[in-house]
Amino acid sequence: MKYLVTGAAGFIGFHVSQRLLAAGHQVVGLDNLNDYYDVRLKEARLALLAPEAGFSFIKGELADRPAMADLFAQQRFDRVVHLGAQAGVRYSLDNPHAYADANLVGHLNILEGCRQTQVGHLLYASSSSVYGLNRKTPFATSDSVDHPVSLYAATKKANELMSHSYAHLYGLPTTGLRFFTVYGPWGRPDMALFKFTKAILAGQAIDVYNQGDMRRDFTYIDDIAEAVVRLTDVIPQPNPAWTVETGSAADSSAPYRVYNIGNSQPVALTHFIGELERALGVKAQMNLLPMQPGDVLETSADTSALEAAIGFKPHTALADGLARFVAWYKDFYRV
Ligand code: NAD
Repeated sequence: MKYLVTGAAGFIGFHVSQRLLAAGHQVVGLDNLNDYYDVRLKEARLALLAPEAGFSFIKGELADRPAMADLFAQQRFDRVVHLGAQAGVRYSLDNPHAYADANLVGHLNILEGCRQTQVGHLLYASSSSVYGLNRKTPFATSDSVDHPVSLYAATKKANELMSHSYAHLYGLPTTGLRFFTVYGPWGRPDMALFKFTKAILAGQAIDVYNQGDMRRDFTYIDDIAEAVVRLTDVIPQPNPAWTVETGSAADSSAPYRVYNIGNSQPVALTHFIGELERALGVKAQMNLLPMQPGDVLETSADTSALEAAIGFKPHTALADGLARFVAWYKDFYRV
């Protein structure tokens, strides 16, 4: 099948593209290669996606409406995995418009392209951040997610709402992917694991917010990519029996689904740092700092719906995943 993967030069898009190619699919990768973080890392990922295996790359901007309409009209995709976005909670405090362009206008352009060319299934990245300050754990997709505490989270929730309207109005099958703190080889330099590793190896102190009193459901990248690729075959169907009276918030009469993709094993940040120290064989020095605006205290995924849909759930143990990240980091940066 022919896939469009947006954000193919990004962390998750790269891994998903690799898996789709290995399964024999044709993949068109789109990315604007922006400099939110090191462009050389994005280029190095792209260099591993081989044209001989069926990969082609388009440097393009999600918010460019005519260019996106042309892309869909010319290429005719069977399925779209939309992972290109402006990520990051803290960056959204200072750069709100980057999120409106990439995550709102960009998402609308993807929906329109899918509708106009009758794409068979659109899967798109949402985020655990939509759960906001929810303290009832684990987070279930039937929980209310009406109170995002960052603009980033608000755009992810908006993506779900926009997708639902297209599923309802036009019968476009859409699947939202609520990822929970993804880590692993080729990971993002703006995320805690990468920053901690770099600082610890350089003998510098790491910034630890809320005195380390935070819990995150860290999820290994191979589990994420496996779940996404399996979900491409689970095409949401309309549910004519659904009614407002009987349906739960997670269901809909439209061909629309949302899944949590997380490890279901939240750990304290201090435990995470301890495991990283073990993997690196170096003790961390810590700057204990207050809570950052927009941050949440805990994330924790209920993945029962995911397991029911694909017979798989993330399971990689943190110590194993960290060891693989550290091995990649030392090799890639020659440290
Ligand atoms: P990433 O930043 O590594 O990848 C996103 C890619 O999209 C980048 O290569 C970037 O150049 C590209 N991009 C950004 N804006 C663009 C635009 N306007 N036009 C074209 N390309 C653009 O991030 P990631 O970690 O791979 O995340 C993928 C998706 O998953 C994002 O939607 C992100 O919000 C979501 N997500 C990630 C995590 C995580 O822990 N990594 C958690 C929850 C949700």
